[in-house]
Amino acid sequence: MARMLIASLAAMLLTTIASPGWSQAPTQPIAPGGAPGQPSRPQIETMKVEGTENVYIFRNGNHQAMFIVTPEGVIATDPVAYGRPTGGQQYIDEIKKVTQAPIRYLIYSHHHFDHIAGGKAFKDAGATIVAHKRAKERLEVLKDPHTPLPDETIDTDRTITLGGTALELSYVGLNHSDSTLVMRLPREKIVFIVDLLPVGRMPGRGMIDFYQLEAEESIKKVLGMDWDRLIPGHPDSGGRLGTRQDAQEQLTLLQEASAEMKKLGQEGKCWDTAEKEFKLPKYATWPGYDQGLPFVARRYCGLWGRGT
Ligand SMILES: [Zn+2]
Repeated sequence: MARMLIASLAAMLLTTIASPGWSQAPTQPIAPGGAPGQPSRPQIETMKVEGTENVYIFRNGNHQAMFIVTPEGVIATDPVAYGRPTGGQQYIDEIKKVTQAPIRYLIYSHHHFDHIAGGKAFKDAGATIVAHKRAKERLEVLKDPHTPLPDETIDTDRTITLGGTALELSYVGLNHSDSTLVMRLPREKIVFIVDLLPVGRMPGRGMIDFYQLEAEESIKKVLGMDWDRLIPGHPDSGGRLGTRQDAQEQLTLLQEASAEMKKLGQEGKCWDTAEKEFKLPKYATWPGYDQGLPFVARRYCGLWGRGT
């Protein structure tokens, strides 16, 4: 009995810690396991976005996706099940806890497997998979066994309207990938943008196939859209949602990184010397700075020291 009481108290405490995080400033790391002495979050978690009636975030580890529940069905995004064979079904199970309405759509944010592997369970449940056309072209070549091909593709934009909710899908050019869709809920003024705009942290591994100059133009287009809150694809800023200021700061960071490496690259210092000398002290206190800096340096060395 006492043990049960302790267990339920512990569960309550965890819920209290985890619940309000989406709209508040980061205080705790979200990664499962966490740092010693800090509370860890469950591997899987589903949260309703504060102030909305039907917008949810499904999180699996350090990946997350948005889903929208309408009377006529569910619009889901990104299965986030790379290396997690049961992740797609677990996502569906979480949706079923909220609604019995059918899952009508699964939208891929871009072609990277860490976000879109695991769609088979959605396909089996009858969902139509939608992605940018370039995502389909890539997936057709790669034939990843865990990533079903899209059923429908988008070139520039499309609005999905279901059960009274509109979800705008826009391609704003090359940026984090060549297949990224910006998803915007005009009524809720929420955008779901994966990997292009890390919230309050240094970019890192996501720079590997980043389009440096084009991304700046994409972010300007995103800033030209009407939205207040940004759901990122990784909750590693403590789970808080992004703001327009976060997006602007990320643009500034990229512009400053580019300018810094431009000097080094044009002095003939790429790769080794430039990568060693490249620093962005203004961001040294940002989460992910030490790990992310080499990825940022290498990508911009590619541009200013190589031309690509
Ligand atoms: Zn990505």
